[in-house]
Amino acid sequence: MFRLTGALSEQEFLHHVVQRSGQNLLECLQCGKCTGGCPIASEKVSGPRRLIAEILSGMRNEALKNPTWWYCVSCGTCMTRCPVDINMYQVATALCELAQEGGIAPSERDIHLFEELFLKSVEKYGRVKELRTVAAYNVITKNPLKDMDKAVTLMRKGAFSPLEILSGWAKDRKVSRIFALARRTSEGGHE
Ligand code: SF4
Ligand code: SF4
Repeated sequence: MFRLTGALSEQEFLHHVVQRSGQNLLECLQCGKCTGGCPIASEKVSGPRRLIAEILSGMRNEALKNPTWWYCVSCGTCMTRCPVDINMYQVATALCELAQEGGIAPSERDIHLFEELFLKSVEKYGRVKELRTVAAYNVITKNPLKDMDKAVTLMRKGAFSPLEILSGWAKDRKVSRIFALARRTSEGGHE
């Protein structure tokens, strides 16, 4: 069982995360089943178990700068493996809000730009066009050869075709309409 020993402000951090996420993190057993199946856990990205340990210990800055929730792809693997049903997506959303409110910069400098380009592609074509999205990101960040080695490996494995850049420009109007509706709803409009 975890016992908080930090300053009051650190203890409050745990309560804020629990309140916002609706997840009782105090039930976490630190069993590590979540991180064992997490596709983004690596040497650089600790994974959900460590992130929860930081929150439980009141390590506000470490948790808000932990790249796990910035990189989280919401695959749900951790949730299906968790014996106490902790929903990491809700925890990641709560941390994202708290980081924004606290003016904490993302661990990956241009992550918001990537998100924007990713969503623009989905809005326009109904799915992400990997090559175009990454090419646009590399051009804007002035790093044209970034991750080219990975692109070659993915192409060899058939994950996407280099011809994608030349074809498939048809717009998906249905998906564009969904985006427009969501935008109007979040701005307080009515349908
Ligand atoms: S699987 Fe659940 S209980 Fe185990 S460490 Fe992860 S969040 Fe905690
Ligand atoms: S939902 Fe996020 S934290 Fe959980 S396994 Fe998937 S990538 Fe990892």
